[in-house]
Amino acid sequence: MELIRIADVQKTYKNGVVALYDFDLSIKKGEFVFVIGASGSGKSTLIKMLYREEKPDKGEIIIGGINVAKLKNRKVYILRRKLGVVFQDFKLLPKLTVYENVAFALEVFAWDKKEIYKRVMQVLDLVGLKHKVRQYPDQLSGGEQQRVVIARAIVNKPKLLICDEPTGNLDPDTSMEIMKVLEEINNMGTTIIMATHDRDIVNKMKKRVIVIEEGKLVKDYEKGQYYNERA
Ligand code: ADP
Repeated sequence: MELIRIADVQKTYKNGVVALYDFDLSIKKGEFVFVIGASGSGKSTLIKMLYREEKPDKGEIIIGGINVAKLKNRKVYILRRKLGVVFQDFKLLPKLTVYENVAFALEVFAWDKKEIYKRVMQVLDLVGLKHKVRQYPDQLSGGEQQRVVIARAIVNKPKLLICDEPTGNLDPDTSMEIMKVLEEINNMGTTIIMATHDRDIVNKMKKRVIVIEEGKLVKDYEKGQYYNERA
């Protein structure tokens, strides 16, 4: 079943830069897709359009039945509920504990305390941080902080997890650990789309790889590798 459909999309920024054009992409529920390409090729623009941080000036973006390109600002929350987002910089709340950083994302839905506790501990267990619930972000390593971010991103059971360079600030071993966590989340049914520059990761994971060059999707490998892309 199709989860994301992008058809004939074009994105022009106010300064006239055409960041994406003639862009078509279909992603099925449960897929793991790497987005690769040189700096400035349009990866972040694609990612931003998926969570409706940017709007295309032409074309269609449908995610789980929601027409993202046409979504009104006051309805964006309906889309965001279906998504989790993980960035390169961790953006945890420094004054909250690990537990609170994750629970914070749930409490907006007014769950009861017991349910919150159960779900938060479940995701912290999944990312291997159950034993650090009372620590503060600055007491954690970079890899651990990113695990908390991932836990926070999936605590509401999103259908889609969007990752923009999630290992960009991490060393190779820590990056692979993060990838194992993401793979496990994917194996549990969450669709993942991840923009990255990391050749080793892409080559080791053997997932679908799409290549963007100067705003255009130029290649789509089913079990991809970096090959000789310029990226
Ligand atoms: P990547 O993530 O692959 O590095 P981006 O999507 O960030 O690429 O950028 C694609 C192109 O759009 C680049 O030429 C970049 O300079 C331009 N761009 C990105 N964001 C903006 C913006 N907010 N305003 C104007 N131009 C932008």
